[in-house]
Order: sequence, then C-alpha cells, then structure tokens
Amino acid sequence: MPELNDWAAGFQPACCEACDGRYLQPKSRELPLCPNCARAELTPCDPPNGIAPPELILPFAVSDETLARQLDDFAGGIWFAPTDLTAARLKHRLQPVLWPMWLVDSQVEALWQAETGFDYQAVSHRDQFDQKRGGWNSQEITETRTRWEPRVGRLNRQYHNIAAPALEEHASLLRRLGKFDLARSQPYRPQAAMVRLPNRSTTDAWPETAPAFQTSAAEECRQASQAQHIRDFRWTTRFQNQNWTLLLLPLYATYYVDDNRQPQPLLIHGQTGRISGPRRASMARARRAAFVVAATAAVIFGLSLLLGLASLVAPPLLLVAGLGLALAVLVGLLAIAPLVGVWLFNRNAAGPMKE
Ligand SMILES: [Zn+2]
Repeated sequence: MPELNDWAAGFQPACCEACDGRYLQPKSRELPLCPNCARAELTPCDPPNGIAPPELILPFAVSDETLARQLDDFAGGIWFAPTDLTAARLKHRLQPVLWPMWLVDSQVEALWQAETGFDYQAVSHRDQFDQKRGGWNSQEITETRTRWEPRVGRLNRQYHNIAAPALEEHASLLRRLGKFDLARSQPYRPQAAMVRLPNRSTTDAWPETAPAFQTSAAEECRQASQAQHIRDFRWTTRFQNQNWTLLLLPLYATYYVDDNRQPQPLLIHGQTGRISGPRRASMARARRAAFVVAATAAVIFGLSLLLGLASLVAPPLLLVAGLGLALAVLVGLLAIAPLVGVWLFNRNAAGPMKE
C-alpha cells in the first residue's frame, strides 16, 4: 500500500463506489454517506499516489444563525414535505467538507493586438420645429462617443492565482452555490474536516485557464494604452514556469431521506450558507391526504343517499340530501389538490446535482 504524504497522515482515504468520489476523512471520525451523491457510504480505499498538499484554505465563515435560518428556509414552506426533511435533522447530519480547486501562476510572454477605445465628448445640435411658437428650436446635446484605434504590443510578465477546476463538477457547483471569496484564503492548516480529492489533474485543468489569462492580459493592455475600452484582443503566447497551488473551499454536506428511502444530498456554501440540492415534496404523504379527503367525500355521499331514501317518508329531507350530494362532489374534487400541488412543486423544484 503506498504511503500517504505527511500532510495527509491524520486522514484515512475513503471512496464512494456510486460516484467515484475520493476523500480523506479524519481518522477520528466514522465514514459517512458520500457528501457528493449520498447514494453510498464511503468505504476505505487505497490512497492515491502523491497527493499534493493543499497550500491554501478558505475558512468557514457562515454564522450559526445564518446556517440555522437557511436550513429552516430549506426545510420549511413545503406542502407535504418528506417526514425526514426537517431543519433539525439536516443540522444533525451536517458535516464540513473541503472541496479542492487549483490556482496557477505562470510567466507569460505574448505578442498582442487589439482595438482600443477612447471616449470623447461630442457636441451636436438638434433642431425641432415648434408648432406652437411657429419657429425652429435648437437644442445643444453633448454625448459620449468612442474612437477606436488599433494597437499592437508585447507583454512579458508573471500572473498569479488564476483559478482552475480540480473537480469535474466545479462549474456546476459554482452555478448552484455561487462564487467563493477567494481573497479570504489563508495558508492551509489541518482541519477536522473531510477533504475531497481532485478528479482533474493540473494537466486537464490547464486549458480551462486560457480565458482567465486572456481577460487579465486584455485588461492590463487596456490600462497600459490608457483606453477606456478594448475589443478584438488577440495574442500569441508562451507560458512558462507554471506553479500550481491546491486551495480548499469550505462546504457543509447534509442529506434527507425522501419517500423512496433515497437519501438526497445537499451542499451548503461555507461562506454564505446558501443551500443547493433537491427540494422535494412527498407524493406518498399527498396520496394519503388525498385518500382521507376522498374517503370523507364518500362518507358524505353515502349519508346523502340515506337521507334521500328517508325523504320518501319525510319529503323535507330531500333538500338536505341534495345539498349533501353537492358537498360530496365538492369535497371529492378537493382530493386532487394535494396531488396536483405536490406534482407541480416537484416539477419546479431544483434538480439534484448531477453534472
Ligand atoms: Zn458518491
């Protein structure tokens, strides 16, 4: 069995057979359900070779009050929520998980060309014929226009901390949870939290950094040209001396068990408390409610029929029987409300984290 690096000595490697997620779990803790998919419990596995130690970490920053409010909001307001979906249970199952991302520094040599835009004020006049006064009315208008000039240049400099995904799910995670304030990152110190291991190597992640390098470079070329705008930025580049850093992002994972006994995973942003994951109402509970309402309608219907029979001997009862039948139909129609309500809610609810 290959040895773990020193930094990971206090952890045991654990894997999810359902989603192939790999983790390091503090040795003092039991192996939980997979925080990513919640479809399987993590099992011990061989440590991956040469896990680069993390250099930076974003500390957990969401307050207990915010977290509690977010959990209340998530679990509350669902018509026929699954029995297991309560804020208390979500809170009880909370566990901190650190998600990896890469940052890369690189020396960049480039030849660039672009169009730079300079704003200037242009004064013009608008002449309008005034019907009432019977004469021309001239109005001075100042507007901002942009003069575009082609520029070429050479660039040679070091760029720092360009973000790159260390997980296939990185983009979907950010879409669901929102961005992280990377400026708050600190030097890594071991935490009592599980660490998700990258499933994208730096080689895989490198091509995705190109747009960020280009955006940074274009902005600098704009500043260097003292222009207000830049467009059609193109460059030929040589990247050298890349230096990769592993940064860990703070998340909480929790779950609830739905009607089909399927745990539904939730992930929570460790800085803002925003929650992402499937928020489902319970069709089983809605069916039970619909059954109770329908049974009530049936009882009213039966009683109304009996009253109808009784009206043969006591005619005034016929009116009551008629009202009873109408009520039975009304209550019977209400029975579909829980089913339609839950169906609509689940259709509009956020889907599970698949990407
Ligand atoms: Zn999993």
